[in-house]
Amino acid sequence: MTEVSKFKECRRAWYLGEIRGLVPKTPTDYFWFGDKMHIGLQVLAETGDTEKAIASYMEACNASISDLEKGFGAFWADMAPMFQELVTLGRGMLHNYAIFDRSTGMNLKTVALEERLFVPIHNPNGRALKGMPKLTARMDRLVIREGQDGEYIIDYKNSTRAWTEGRNLELDEQTTGYHYEFWRVRGYLPRGMIYDTLLKRIPNEPRVLKPRKHGDPPLLSKDKDQGTTFELYTQALREMNLDPKDYTDILAQLKEQAWTKYFKREVTTRNMEQIKAYERDLFYTFQDMRAVAQDPRKAYPNPSPMRCPRCPFRDVCLAMNDGSDAEDMIKARFTVSTEKRL
Ligand code: SF4
Repeated sequence: MTEVSKFKECRRAWYLGEIRGLVPKTPTDYFWFGDKMHIGLQVLAETGDTEKAIASYMEACNASISDLEKGFGAFWADMAPMFQELVTLGRGMLHNYAIFDRSTGMNLKTVALEERLFVPIHNPNGRALKGMPKLTARMDRLVIREGQDGEYIIDYKNSTRAWTEGRNLELDEQTTGYHYEFWRVRGYLPRGMIYDTLLKRIPNEPRVLKPRKHGDPPLLSKDKDQGTTFELYTQALREMNLDPKDYTDILAQLKEQAWTKYFKREVTTRNMEQIKAYERDLFYTFQDMRAVAQDPRKAYPNPSPMRCPRCPFRDVCLAMNDGSDAEDMIKARFTVSTEKRL
């Protein structure tokens, strides 16, 4: 199902990655980080144990260092500090995510992890296509909320950017696709999708001010932009034996701000009309995918200032259009995946 979204975003990137199976010899930091965080989050979902989640994440990071070293070769010395920063960042994000999750009061209980669903693609008359091509999806995590019937699907995203409003989740194709697969396999709709965004930042410890004169006790800064949280601030007050009554303004502000600068949870739902529309559109999308797979000339690019900077095929894509030797670049920078396509 991710392939359908990838195809719709850019058929050229889809063709290079999925049909030719090209894998960059050096992973982009974005995908590398997302992959390792996924491991930590899944262990957290399975065990509810933050320490175990962080340990699994660290283990996965450390295990990949030798591959990174090999991939980057002579450039590794320059790249290593950036990856090291990401390792530390992820550890802090996992720690805080567990606190954030508890603070939402949703009491989510994991009922399934990494469940893969297969659904035959149907034509507009409702018949499965010849050869039974299937739409597959892997649900990272299904949860139920205490005291409620029905499952929610959870999806996570790591992001550098904050946003002020929702992200048009009601139009998000991947969300609709998950709902569709779930409905086709189980016969009923999930309650909705919980979409957790983990911003790539961790809060600071509250700033400690130098005593005004010798012998005075240290105090905490009341600067509202110091990037800390209510939890860290109250903990520091306790540890320094300071009176919270002297800090009411900043405590009120931090309490109101909660975890909004670090995490965002949104819940979205789909109805049966949206599901039927997805099934109908899927048939035509599948026809297009098949046509592109059979004729690479149809794999035209779909440039976007949002997407292209993160695309692993960016330089190849440029070379394909400016007359450079794209195949030579592919040979030098990519390997071919041996993984079997589902
Ligand atoms: S760089 Fe942009 S247009 Fe080119 S393949 Fe990647 S996503 Fe598509």
